Amino acid sequence: MKAAVITGPGRVELREEPSPTPGPDQLLIKMTACGVCTFERRLYAGDNPWYPVSPGHEISGQVVEVGESVDGLEGTPRRGETVTVDLLPRCLTCRSCRRGRTALCRSRHRRRLSDGTVSFGGFVEVISVDAKSAYPTGDAPPLHAAMGEPLACTVHSLRRAGLRPGDRVAIIGGGFMGRLHLALGRLEGASAIGVVDISEERRLQAREAGADWVAAPEQARQVGGLQDVVFVTAMGGLDLAWDIVDVGGSIGLYSSFASEAVVRVEADRAHREEISVVGIFNQEPEDWRRAAALIRSGALSDPLDGLISARYPMARIDQALALVTSLPTYRVFVEGGPAG
Ligand SMILES: [Zn+2]
Ligand SMILES: [Zn+2]
Repeated sequence: MKAAVITGPGRVELREEPSPTPGPDQLLIKMTACGVCTFERRLYAGDNPWYPVSPGHEISGQVVEVGESVDGLEGTPRRGETVTVDLLPRCLTCRSCRRGRTALCRSRHRRRLSDGTVSFGGFVEVISVDAKSAYPTGDAPPLHAAMGEPLACTVHSLRRAGLRPGDRVAIIGGGFMGRLHLALGRLEGASAIGVVDISEERRLQAREAGADWVAAPEQARQVGGLQDVVFVTAMGGLDLAWDIVDVGGSIGLYSSFASEAVVRVEADRAHREEISVVGIFNQEPEDWRRAAALIRSGALSDPLDGLISARYPMARIDQALALVTSLPTYRVFVEGGPAG
């Protein structure tokens, strides 16, 4: 079977690897689609020089083999089912995991290719995964199932920020993650959702996708007013979040930030107005269950379709990576062959 390895900026190769054998509690999965995320873009662009590495963490697949301990076990995916797969290590042993915060697992264990190259597991033809980490997505298209990971991150984000029905919501950043926040916030009953972005094109597209209002950052307060929940899904935007959050509101720091970025906290205001600033990172099994259920139900079918920018076969992964490093896109996918 083949695994894609990024060996340097602008360099990716397909390596032949032995096919994995699933353990008794595992499944053998044939990759059907894997999204190209910011992590992969930064690797290929040279912004995150960590080579060689086999990335890809937004994967859907078809179950081709079920380990003997879980075969027929109720709730376990069956042969032939399409699943979305949680590839995050959750050791259940470290301090974070013991506290139930597996999004923050500190385990240093990594999946590896035969020569020791670190593998995230997504850009491969076949992978073995723990059965408990695979979530069936029913008849949903494989590309929707491959959005399980970012959708689980979004479920986690709304949960962490405490979004409730009727809330006024602003999303700073109208990229792929911002748009998933828009789609899910809508489903969760937000009374109004606005999207703030520096790009006019992205603002127009967010409006078409159902945002109640859109604005450039300098217009956000005037156009959208004060907000109960503000999600920051683009680098920067912190000062704006403070500027538009209302009393009793919360600011969710979804995006990554430059390591030197400092949050300006108006301490007394945060105290008097009970404003929360919450960090948001990864996802947890309960987020996965909800994300998979949403994908399976088709409730997000239109918004997910609207976020597919391009798709390439595994053999053309170089083109997929070249595209995301050269143009703004929502999600670009690498697809595996039909499961045999
Ligand atoms: Zn991702
Ligand atoms: Zn852990």
